[in-house]
Amino acid sequence: MLAERVVVLGGGFAGLETAFQLAAMVKPSRLHLTVVSDRDRFLYRPGLVALPFGAAEAPLHVPLSQALDLHGIKRRLACVENIDTDRRVVHTNRLAPVHYDHLVIATGAQAHPHRVPGLAEHAVAISSPGQLHQLGERFQWVAHNAGHGRPQQVLFVVPPNTAWPGPAYEIALMLDTWLRRREVRHQVGITFATAERTFGEHLGEGLHHILAGEFATRGIAGRTGLAVTEIAEVHTGFDDGTKVQHDLVVGVPPVAAAMWHDGMPADGRGFLTCRPADRSVLGQDGVYAPGDAGDFPVKQAFLAVTQARAVATAIASRILGRPAGTEYEPTALCVLDTVDKGILVEAPLTAEGLVRVDHDHVLTGPAWRAVKHAIGRYVPMRYRHGRPALPRTGDGLLTAARRLLGPIGR
Ligand SMILES: Cc1cc2nc3c(=O)[nH]c(=O)nc-3n(C[C@H](O)[C@H](O)[C@H](O)COP(=O)(O)OP(=O)(O)OC[C@H]3O[C@@H](n4cnc5c(N)ncnc54)[C@H](O)[C@@H]3O)c2cc1C
Repeated sequence: MLAERVVVLGGGFAGLETAFQLAAMVKPSRLHLTVVSDRDRFLYRPGLVALPFGAAEAPLHVPLSQALDLHGIKRRLACVENIDTDRRVVHTNRLAPVHYDHLVIATGAQAHPHRVPGLAEHAVAISSPGQLHQLGERFQWVAHNAGHGRPQQVLFVVPPNTAWPGPAYEIALMLDTWLRRREVRHQVGITFATAERTFGEHLGEGLHHILAGEFATRGIAGRTGLAVTEIAEVHTGFDDGTKVQHDLVVGVPPVAAAMWHDGMPADGRGFLTCRPADRSVLGQDGVYAPGDAGDFPVKQAFLAVTQARAVATAIASRILGRPAGTEYEPTALCVLDTVDKGILVEAPLTAEGLVRVDHDHVLTGPAWRAVKHAIGRYVPMRYRHGRPALPRTGDGLLTAARRLLGPIGR
C-alpha cells in the first residue's frame, strides 16, 4: 500500500503538534509527512512575556531540523505562496511544488499594527521577541525616571480585533510587581484600556472578576469597552472622546490571517471557515486549518494544540480506514504570570467560541506560576525531541494538577 502524503504548512504550535501526533499515530510505511515553514525554528510564544523583565530568549527557540529529522519528517524551508486545491499542490518561493493527499494549513495569524493609527509609530507592540526586548529597555527608562522623582504614565491598549490579549494583562501585572520591587511604583501610573466588554472577555466572567480585583488592589486604572482611535506622541485618543496622557504605550496589535487563500471560505480577516468537529475547511476535501489560521474566535496555544490533535486523529482515521473518533470539544486553558503568583484559567467553550456558562475555573496562587514555568520547559523539550505536547487521549496531567493545586491556590 502506498504511503499517503500529508503536508503541514507552518512550524508553530498547530503545525508541529499535528506532525508529531500523526507520526505517533501512523506507521512510517503508511505516511509521507512534510512540514513547510518559512522559519527554521519553533518559537514558544507564551514565554515572550518574561523577556522585558530579564528572562533569556534562547530556551524559547527549538530548531526544526533537530525536531523533525528525528522521526524522518521531511522539512522544506520555504514561504508558501499559493495552494492549487484542484491539483492538490502547494507552491512556494522555491522551485519544486509540494504535492499532497491531505493538507494542514497552520500558518497562524499576523499582526497588523497599521490598522490603529499611530500604533506602529508611537507604541511598543508585543508580538515578536525584538519588540519584547525593546519593551524591557523602555521599562528600564520608566524605572530610571521614576527613581529620579519624575512621575511616569504607562498605558496598555487592547484595540478591537486582537487575537488573545492575555499577554498584555500579564505584562501590566508583572510591571506592577517589578516596579514595587524597585520601590518606584508610587511614581508610575498604570492604565489598562481595552475594547473588550470585560477584562479577558473571551475566557469568561471568572477571569474578569479576578483581573478587576488585581487591578483594584494594585492601583492599576482599568477601563473596558473603550476602543482606541489614535495613538499620538504624548496622548492616546478613544472612541468616547477621552484622551489619556502617556510616557509609554504598550499596544496589542490587531491581527488577520498570515496567509489569504483564494477560493477557500474565510471570514473578513482571512481566517479559514472550519467544521467545528475536526477543523476541516468547509467544502475542501482533505484540507484542515488548526490553530490561529482557522476561524475559531479564541486564539491560544492550548487551543492550537488540541485542535491539532483533533486534525491528526481525523487524518489518521482516513489513512487507516478507521471510523472517525469523538468530536473535538474546545477548552481554553492558560496561566497568566504576575511574577508574585500565577492565574490559571480553564474555560470549556461552545463550537462558536463562547464560554460555557458557569463552567469556567479560575485559580490563583504561587503554585500556578510554578506550573506555568514547568509547562514552558516541558513543551519546548517535547518538541526538541520530536514528540507531541499532548497525550494521545485525555488531558490527565492538567486535570490532576488542577485537582491537586486547586484548594490551596484559590
Ligand atoms: C507575546 C505572546 C504571548 C502569548 N502567550 C500565550 C499564552 O500564554 N498562552 C496561550 O495559550 N497563547 C499565548 N499566545 C498565543 C499563541 O502564541 C498563539 O495562539 C499560537 O502561537 C498559535 O499557534 P499557531 O501554530 O496556530 O500559529 P503560529 O504560532 O503563529 O505559527 C504559524 C507558523 O506558520 C509559519 N508561516 C506563516 N506564514 C507562512 C508562509 N506563508 N509560509 C510558510 N510558513 C508560514 C510561521 O513562521 C509559523 O511557524 C501568545 C501570543 C503572543 C504573541
